Amino acid sequence: MNKPFYKEGLKFECVRCSACCRFDPGYVFLSASDMDRLASFFKIDKKAIVEKYCRIVNMGGSRRLSFKEKKNFDCIFWKEGGCTIYEARPLQCRSYPFWQPFLTSEEAWNKEAENCPGMKRGKKHSLKVIENWLEKRDNEMYKLEDIL
Ligand code: SF4
Ligand code: SF4
Repeated sequence: MNKPFYKEGLKFECVRCSACCRFDPGYVFLSASDMDRLASFFKIDKKAIVEKYCRIVNMGGSRRLSFKEKKNFDCIFWKEGGCTIYEARPLQCRSYPFWQPFLTSEEAWNKEAENCPGMKRGKKHSLKVIENWLEKRDNEMYKLEDIL
């Protein structure tokens, strides 16, 4: 099998610009393990987290949880200075930008780098590290019924 374009690793170091947390409408999907982490971070049960911070999204037949957004489309947890739940942030945020769609080709990676000034600079992440993120993302459970 051909080695992926990132066989020698990829550079990424977050510069904390918050561009991926603000202004654009989108989803921060929550997995079962994200919800467990959030429940212990907030010390409240998962149902209370859903009521306060989440919305339910219909995904063509299955339902998922996503964080609510503010009126200007900032993530509900973004405040001046950055993410207020940084230690407990979901896998989607932790694993960015090592997401399947951006790793399909070098072009896809370069295209996404136009949105994120941390990509293609700073620390190099090895093939193994990138594969670990991909595997982690594949193994998470996102269906609402698997979470609550
Ligand atoms: S857009 Fe990139 S550099 Fe900016 S906060 Fe998000 S991950 Fe970090
Ligand atoms: S949870 Fe934190 S890191 Fe993730 S989108 Fe919201 S503010 Fe950004």
